[in-house]
Amino acid sequence: MLEEQKGTAEAECLLEDLGFDALPIVPSEVVESISTDDFKVAIESKYFDSEQILGKAMGDDKAALIYLNKTISDIGRFNFTAAHEIGHVCMHIMPQRKMLFECGSKELSNPFDNPIEKEANGFASGLLLPKRLISKLTDNEIHWGNIYTISNTCQASLEATYRRLNILSKDPTALVIHKNGNYRRFVASKNFDFYINNPPLSREQQTLCVDVKNDDYPTDFEEVDASDWVNPIFRDTTLKTIYSSSIMLKEGFTYTLLTYDDDCLDDNEDQLTEPMF
Ligand SMILES: [Zn+2]
Repeated sequence: MLEEQKGTAEAECLLEDLGFDALPIVPSEVVESISTDDFKVAIESKYFDSEQILGKAMGDDKAALIYLNKTISDIGRFNFTAAHEIGHVCMHIMPQRKMLFECGSKELSNPFDNPIEKEANGFASGLLLPKRLISKLTDNEIHWGNIYTISNTCQASLEATYRRLNILSKDPTALVIHKNGNYRRFVASKNFDFYINNPPLSREQQTLCVDVKNDDYPTDFEEVDASDWVNPIFRDTTLKTIYSSSIMLKEGFTYTLLTYDDDCLDDNEDQLTEPMF
C-alpha cells in the first residue's frame, strides 16, 4: 500500500507542476509535457509479438520510449496502461532505478507483489483520477452512479475508479466481480472485515442486477442477508444484513458493490455476550 500511495502522490504532484487542471487527463498530453530537450519521452501504440504484454517502457539517461499494445480496445484499460508506463518513466527510468519494463495484466493488477509495479499502479491511479479534480465531480459517496460519473469523465475503468474512491473513503466497501455468474475476484477496502464468499451468483442475486446498457447506473443499495455475500462473523461482530448493488456489464461481467454500517449488525449480539446472572 505504501508504494501505491507514493506513486499516487508523485503523479498528483506532477500534474500540479505541469499545470493540468481539467479532466480527462490524457496520457499522451502528459508525455508531451514531460518531454524536454534534455530528456525526450515519446509514446506510441503498436502490435506486439506477445498478446500478454500490454505496455512497455524503456530508456537510458537521455530519453525514454513507451509502447502500448494496439490490441487494447477498452479506453479505460488503454489509458491505465499508458499512465502505468508513464509512472515507470518518471519514477524508475529517469532516476535510473531500472531501464526496461514489459508489463502484462499481472503487473497492472494491484495484488502483484512487486514494489516497482505497485508504484507504477499507484501513479496511474493518481494520474488519471487526481483527488483534487475528481472530488469536485460528485459528493464522493461510493455508489455506481458516482463511480460511473467519475469513470466516464476521467476515461478510466469502473474498477480503477472504484479502487481510487475506496482509498479516499472511510466506509467499508468491496467490489466483487463475476463473469457469466461465476466468481472471479474481489477488491475490498482495508476496513472491510468480512470474508467474501465465492459461490456463483444465485438466481435471486442475478435478478437484482441492473442492466446498465438500458438503465441508469444505480445510486442505491439493496439490503440483503449478509450470509448471501460474506461469512457474517468476524471476531466479536456478527453482520445480519449487508447492502449490495449489482450491475450487469458487457461480456457477461457482473460487478457488485458491498457495504455495511452499524444498522447491519446483529442486535442480539450484545445480549449474548453479556454474562448471565
Ligand atoms: Zn509495469
